[in-house]
Amino acid sequence: MELVKNVVCPFCGTLCDDIICKVEGDEIVGTMNACRIGHSKFVHTEGAMRWKKPQIRDENGELVETTYDEAIERAAQVLAKSKRPLMYGWSCTDCDAQAAGMALAENTKAIVDNTASVCHGPSVLALQDVGYPICTFGEVKNRADVVVYWGCNPMHAHPRHLSRHVFARGFFRERGRSDRTLIVVDPRESDSSKLADIHIQVGYNQDYELLDAMRACMMGHEILYDEVAGVPKEDIEAVVEVLKNAQFGILFFGMGITHSRGKHRNIDTAIMLTQDLNNFGKFTLIPMRGHYNVTGFNQVATWESGYPYCIDFATGIPRYNPGETGSNDLLQSKEADAMMVIASDPGAHFPQKSLERMAEIPVIAIEPHRTPTTELADIILPPAIVGMETDGTAYRMEGVPIRMRKVVNSDLLSDREILEKLMKRVMEIKTASK
Ligand code: SF4
Repeated sequence: MELVKNVVCPFCGTLCDDIICKVEGDEIVGTMNACRIGHSKFVHTEGAMRWKKPQIRDENGELVETTYDEAIERAAQVLAKSKRPLMYGWSCTDCDAQAAGMALAENTKAIVDNTASVCHGPSVLALQDVGYPICTFGEVKNRADVVVYWGCNPMHAHPRHLSRHVFARGFFRERGRSDRTLIVVDPRESDSSKLADIHIQVGYNQDYELLDAMRACMMGHEILYDEVAGVPKEDIEAVVEVLKNAQFGILFFGMGITHSRGKHRNIDTAIMLTQDLNNFGKFTLIPMRGHYNVTGFNQVATWESGYPYCIDFATGIPRYNPGETGSNDLLQSKEADAMMVIASDPGAHFPQKSLERMAEIPVIAIEPHRTPTTELADIILPPAIVGMETDGTAYRMEGVPIRMRKVVNSDLLSDREILEKLMKRVMEIKTASK
């Protein structure tokens, strides 16, 4: 058995780069340092179904094994014919594949969108309005004496986040956890809130009101009510004092405020609170980005087109209008007439109304495993998995790029190779039909 060190975990936005993989032949049989979720991505689960060959659905609705050439031909025909193709996913693949996808979208006049539109998209809208005062993880570990997790539960969703940045001893925080005040804001008593020094049990869907009261209090105004969002006035005043007295504070925030009432307005108030706290000490924030390379897609899309997600190439000039050009908008308005899904599972994670449209239109899935999306797909192209079977670049949640390692070999094409072949064939079809 061989030990491969310094492997990067291809699961969550924490993007841990200290994983050790235990390898036997061309199989990862174990890990060290990875959390339970990371470990289960690296190690094949007995019984889990991995596509070893491309598939196409026949006239009886059955999936039939085929070659890459045949599946790519079918997929290219779908994309070349479609008037309003949607290309969705992208957050579980590397930046080179994402760049190849942007080129394919531009050449097929498609709409290209990633999981941000169902995740931290509201945070993107907010930062475009009011700003983005962030820092890197190293600064949190070395300097932060006040750490806030607002609307997120890292113990379940980013399991090593706390140990790497809060419990860790840093240059100016030699005692680790005991040098920091940990605040969790969550309506539920979560496993993360159980570790906190202060748990603010905000009323569900009332984060905006609470943030507003905190900002007013911070600026020296009286809070108008005895209780805001279920939190007594004195508790709000006490927590604002903790934030104002921070030498270096960090606000991590998640789906609890991007998905609840107010969405992007919750985030822009949180950003303004963070900015205003810099009148007292140093305060920054970091969105708890979900997939290991959701940030990478928004980076690639922005430097290629000027826009981070929901990008419409229909006129040949990129256009951006979340609310109209998001994946769920296009599916629910029945505007999309074909869909290519890559490195994502909308079949499991989109609302029913969007799935109804997916069932009506041709769906191409570039996906290694059997998922609810491949159940809806007409063409399945299985890739080698980034970070295990092929290398590539990913961006951590606060924008640090890290090179993913190839640990074992695979006969399958990478996402980038599939997309490049697909683009070559689509262009041939389009040129021939002119
Ligand atoms: S915390 Fe995230 S990146 Fe780190 S090992 Fe777990 S799943 Fe992987």
